[in-house]
Amino acid sequence: MALSEFEIIRRFFHREVPLRQDVALGIGDDGAVVRVAEGCDLVISTDTLASGVHFPADAEPSDIGFRSLAVNLSDLAAMGAEPAWATLALSLREATEAWLSGFARGFFSLADEASMQLVGGDITRGPLAITVSVYGSVPRGEALLRSGARPGDLIFVTGTLGDAAAALELDLKTAPATHARALRQRLLRPIPRLIVGVGLRGVASSAIDVSDGLASDLGHIVEASGVGARIEVASLPLSEPLCQLVARYQAWELALSGGDDYELCFSAPAMHRALVTSLAHSSDCPITQIGVIESERGLRCVTPDGSLLTIARPGYRHF
Ligand code: ADP
Ligand code: MG
Repeated sequence: MALSEFEIIRRFFHREVPLRQDVALGIGDDGAVVRVAEGCDLVISTDTLASGVHFPADAEPSDIGFRSLAVNLSDLAAMGAEPAWATLALSLREATEAWLSGFARGFFSLADEASMQLVGGDITRGPLAITVSVYGSVPRGEALLRSGARPGDLIFVTGTLGDAAAALELDLKTAPATHARALRQRLLRPIPRLIVGVGLRGVASSAIDVSDGLASDLGHIVEASGVGARIEVASLPLSEPLCQLVARYQAWELALSGGDDYELCFSAPAMHRALVTSLAHSSDCPITQIGVIESERGLRCVTPDGSLLTIARPGYRHF
């Protein structure tokens, strides 16, 4: 490597001014020391992005940096946690200045916005892969779980679904440039729904982020909760670009089985409907009711004519 590990850390990842007061010791020792607030639980999550699996080898380094943190922050959002600290393990074929500075720019643009401090990591030589671990906090006992959905609860999703999958699967060359750009942006730079996640504490009965596809991820909720769900596919929130580019039926398919949107899917008791509506306003994030939790197990996706839609492709599976 042209740059030594220590130069890489010093130049691209260590920052003179610490972002957070609760970091007693950041990058530079054998471990970081952080202070967890009294009365809080620590929420921990980790995700790896591998070149050729989660992003093309020639993707923009700044997009890779942004996305590697975004997908992790989305997990904290789904737990209702506030982001605090992160560690970053990098495996690189070669350490070029251009790649590292782009990566760090993307990573820190989101970290700063989320008030998250990078407190450590690791660098090794190997196939390009990025593992980020994130640490966040929730008031004790208030983390949002997958297991709390009850029959009669309403099912909601944030934002729109199917856009990232459309960017991945459709040929966008002939699409209007603004539509193509909007859809690609969803894939490259997912926005973790952190404010909504925090706002759902005490409101949602279960939550998950949509990384593998709605049907698959809502499937985890119903499985963990021992219930079932009915989705009205006509209620699925679809973006303008997606509706312009594909027929309604294909848009539903993308929304149900396409991954990578990183929206939140959650259930809430019907009596909390107004709280959900006001959270959508205060967080400036659209939230749409798409169905209800039922006691009958399994997932039923109902079309406007009353027929059941079978999902051809379940969510992405690595193994
Ligand atoms: P050790 O050999 O004890 O694991 P390292 O030399 O790997 O220590 O790392 C030195 C310091 O730099 C540690 O505090 C480590 O957490 C931090 N660090 C290493 N790689 C990164 C990285 N990619 N981003 C942020 N901090 C890092
Ligand atoms: Mg190390």
